Amino acid sequence: MSDPLLRIDDVTLAFGGLVANRDVSIDVAAGEILGLIGPNGAGKSTLFNLISGVYRPSRGRILFEGADITALPAAERCRRGIARTFQVPRSFDSMNVVENVVVGALARHATAATARRAALETLDRVGLTHRAGAVAGELTPPEKRRLEVARALATGPRLLLLDEVLTGLTPGEAQAGVALIREVAASGITVIMVEHVMEVVMPLVDRAVVLHLGAVLAQGAPAAVVRDDAVITAYLGERHRAA
Ligand code: ADP
Ligand code: MG
Repeated sequence: MSDPLLRIDDVTLAFGGLVANRDVSIDVAAGEILGLIGPNGAGKSTLFNLISGVYRPSRGRILFEGADITALPAAERCRRGIARTFQVPRSFDSMNVVENVVVGALARHATAATARRAALETLDRVGLTHRAGAVAGELTPPEKRRLEVARALATGPRLLLLDEVLTGLTPGEAQAGVALIREVAASGITVIMVEHVMEVVMPLVDRAVVLHLGAVLAQGAPAAVVRDDAVITAYLGERHRAA
């Protein structure tokens, strides 16, 4: 097997006495869609923060394209091609939608004009063109999620981390989101996504990793992971055992 795009190598992060990620090792191959699942508080968003450079691990290393990025600041990781959304959308609410996406595009484009063109293309890609001139603070929650994805995509990532971007959507909106994620992956961007709705996430991902109490409880093909006894007990619940 060729080198993984991302290697999380035995990473631990403690906040005081609370171990949010414990001895986590995950390899992500280029081109994969990886599902990161597990109960609330399992450490999923913390792992995204470690990959994107919001936090540094207490122990362990993170490698991207073979290079050790453990100590690099978030902006440098973004420049290298790691983009993420935040579980709670972080739009610049007083700016309009296209300006929000320009902020992302400026990570990849040297001039305001090319950044703006890239931002408009990205809005089209995520289906937000009709809201380009709207003030971000006035978007509906599903639109804010799309904007969050657009800002991340506009940075021109090789790896995209999606933190619950399909949560709280209607079935129709969720299906549109799934189609967008498939399109993003088909364009060559590797995706790691945190999602709770098994019916939505499992058909979409190539592989699933289950976190529980900060540690990897199981990883493998989605069909195997949902049948895993420990995963059913810790996360999915007995309802899944029969199914
Ligand atoms: P998940 O995304 O899987 O729901 P999180 O990664 O947000 O879980 O949180 C994992 C654990 O780490 C939780 O117990 C949470 O309260 C704790 N935690 C996360 N960020 C911090 C922080 N900055 N300071 C202290 N505790 C934190
Ligand atoms: Mg979270």
